[in-house]
This record gives sequence, C-alpha cells and structure tokens, in this order.
Amino acid sequence: MNTTAEVLPFRGGQEKKDLYEIGEIPPLGHVPKQMYAWAIRRERHGDPDTAMLCETVDVPQPDSHEVLVLVMAAGVNYNGVWAALGKPISVFDVHKEPFHIAGSDASGIVWAVGSKVTRWKVGDEVVIHCNQDDGDDEECNGGDPMLSPTQRIWGYETPDGSFAQFTNVQSQQLMPRPKHLTWEESACYTLTLATAYRMLFGHRPHILRPGHNVLVWGASGGLGSMAIQLITTAGANAIGVISDESKREFVLGLGAKAVINRKDFNCWGQLPTVNGPEFGDYMKEVRKFGKAIWDITGKGTDVDTVFEHPGEQTFPVSCNVVKRGGMVVFCAGTTGFNLTFDARFVWMRQKRIQGSHFANLKQAAQANKLMIERRIDPSMSEVFSWDDIPRAHMKMMRNEHKPGNMAVLVQAKRPGMRTLEEAVDA
Ligand code: NDP
Repeated sequence: MNTTAEVLPFRGGQEKKDLYEIGEIPPLGHVPKQMYAWAIRRERHGDPDTAMLCETVDVPQPDSHEVLVLVMAAGVNYNGVWAALGKPISVFDVHKEPFHIAGSDASGIVWAVGSKVTRWKVGDEVVIHCNQDDGDDEECNGGDPMLSPTQRIWGYETPDGSFAQFTNVQSQQLMPRPKHLTWEESACYTLTLATAYRMLFGHRPHILRPGHNVLVWGASGGLGSMAIQLITTAGANAIGVISDESKREFVLGLGAKAVINRKDFNCWGQLPTVNGPEFGDYMKEVRKFGKAIWDITGKGTDVDTVFEHPGEQTFPVSCNVVKRGGMVVFCAGTTGFNLTFDARFVWMRQKRIQGSHFANLKQAAQANKLMIERRIDPSMSEVFSWDDIPRAHMKMMRNEHKPGNMAVLVQAKRPGMRTLEEAVDA
C-alpha cells in the first residue's frame, strides 16, 4: 500500500483484527484485511433484494492520490437500482470487475491517505462526492472535469462504492462534513444536491436568477427536494410537481411557491403523432397543464426553466411549457429514454434542451457550503439499517419511498450520532 504511515494510537481495549463486525470501529487508522460489503454479481442481476448480497471482500488499497474512508453512513440513490437490475447497461461491462459494490454517497472518517495526499489526514470527517477522473487532460485542467473523457461515477461506473465498511476514493472526492448533521443526514444529500446545483447554475447563460420561475418534476424526491431549496435560496420561484396530495405540504415546506398534482392531468407519455387523431385532445390537456402554471406565474408568463428527470412520460410537456428561449435541463429518464417533443415549438421559440450530469468539484463544493451554512436541509426521509440496504432500494425502485433522500447506517450503530467518539462508545 502506497500510503503515509500515519496510524494513530489505540483507544483503550480496542483490538487490531483482520475483520470487524458491522458497527465495530477499528482503532483509528488501523486497516483490516477484509470487510463486509453488499455485492452485486453479474449472475445475480435483477431486483435489488436478490441482486445484492452481503459478502466478505478485501479492503481496497489506496494509491498515492487516494484516500481510504471508514464509511459511517451512506445514501440511497437510483444508481444502486440500475446497478442491481443491470439496466440500461450492466456495470460489469463498464468496469469489468467480478463484483460491484454500489453506493455513490457517503459520510465517513479518513482512515488512510496515499503518500501524495496533502489536503486530508487520518481522522478528518468527510462527505464524498461521486465524480472521478484521471485529472490529466485539458478538461480537468482549465476546463470542466465533467467533460473529461475519463469522467466516471464512483459506485456506479467504478466497482467500489459506499455500501461497505471501507471505500477507496480519489482525494478530490472529499469535502468537509457539515458537523451540525448526524452521520446519516450528512450521507444522504451530496449526489442529489450537487446534481441539482449544476442543473440550475452550471449551464450558461441559462443560470438561475432571482425571480425566475422553475418547474420541478418529482418535487418531493431526492433531486426535487434539493432543487426546490436551491431555487428558494436563490430568490426564485419553484413550482413543484407531485403525484399524491400527501406530498404537498412537504414540498411547500421546502419553500416552493406552489405545487401541482400531475394526477389532475392526462397528457403524459410520448408525443402523439403531430396532427394525428389523438393530437387535438392531447393538446387540450397540455394547455390545461400550462394554464395551471399560469395560475401561479401570471397569465402569459411561462417558466424560465424546467428541471427534468422523469423523461419519457413528461418530456414533451416540459418542452411545451418552457418559455421562448428558456431551458429544459435534464439528468435522467427514469420513466424511459425515448424522449419526444414537438420540434416546431423548440426551434421556432428557440428553446434549449440541455443534458446535465452530476457536478464538478467546484459545483459540489459550492453546494456543500450551502449545507454547511444551514441554508439547505438534507431532507432526509428515512434511515435504514445495514441489513435493510436492499429493501431501501426496492422501495426506491417501486416509488414507494417517503419524500426526500434516504440514508443507511454502515459503521454508525444507531441514528443520531455526530462524532467518531460517540460511534466508538456506542
Ligand atoms: P426519487 O425517486 O427520489 O424521485 C423521483 C421522483 O420522480 C419521484 O418522487 C416521483 O414523484 C417522480 N416520478 C416518478 N414517476 C413519474 C412520472 N411517471 N412522471 C413524473 N414524475 C414521476 O429519485 P431521484 O430524485 O433521486 O432521482 C431521479 C432520477 O434522476 C433517477 O433516474 C436517477 O437515476 C437520476 N439521477 C441522475 C443524476 C445524474 O447525475 N445524472 C443524479 C441523481 C439522480 P411524484 O410521483 O410525486 O411525481
């Protein structure tokens, strides 16, 4: 292992072992040989509750620019669902390793650092953002690392995510942990918050400004709950979309100006053939949805930006309701990838359709600063135990999860802890 030899003294009675139980904290800086991890294997691709299995695997070895982190808690994201299903692609075709540990969000403690790492030391409390790159091309040096050909998402395109006692990451993935949050609260937000931040602030000249109107799909979900808060913090107006009245108060509580229930409309799915037999009725429904927006923004005032991710079911409507010269920014196609839109309105009204993917370190760090300054709440919905990691993913896959971001405990034995000392004594 190419790491500095900084290993801090034992705390009384703790043993150096080769494998620790979940929740058992090794002496600070002692790296065991093995660890527990929820592993997916190619032959198990399918629903998360069968694809993920708790296995004993080797603890990864940090290279000179890498950091080994003891994972205290992790966040649940769709990445884990996609990795389990092997859809739309198998992660094994990407990284070619025999097993895959999902998990692209975590909070934890720096446990060992590579010999060239200077920004972090053993014992630092961190959150991990999920962007990796090789750092040696022009996009990583003066451009945007998200455009680097080596850009990849840790825990999805790499096999070594956070559903394990230890995880090995590039040192530039670490950011300071908001100390006012618990381990699980700090583990649940980085992926969704940083993604929402880039979508709203990362695509010039369509930068969110005070007074803008933004339509936010899935407003109660992970991405949506972060977007609503960012929009509100920036002094703009968020219009949140939900599918169930039980979510309305939650979304308004995040600061949304208004909430629309998509179940009140029937214009979802791919665009029907333009001027075909269904087109007239379809457009009536779209205009009804547009009017619901105007009831909030004022007659004739279309939204400046649409914050998109459901994809196939909503995309034609997103492209219709955004204003002339406005932007539909999207980072996913949860309901399907065959996106359609009425091209006439996009070109004539010069609308921008912009793909967006996670965030670079600067954007992630700016978003994290808002969390540290308590301007944004992590919107943690539910905390699951280590054993319930597959079940948490099943809930997400079935859209049965509670509003906000889900967290799971890894080395933190119970919810509510904020320090390493508490975890050792638990
Ligand atoms: P969540 O499940 O937390 O939220 C998604 C929301 O979408 C749900 O709350 C639901 O709200 C809404 N939704 C579900 N079905 C439909 C539908 N048919 N029409 C409209 N809305 C629907 O997921 P996340 O917010 O964490 O992630 C959403 C997507 O974004 C995933 O596909 C994920 O992989 C992707 N993603 C991509 C990232 C990137 O960097 N590219 C980063 C983060 C996430 P309701 O039913 O109330 O409308």
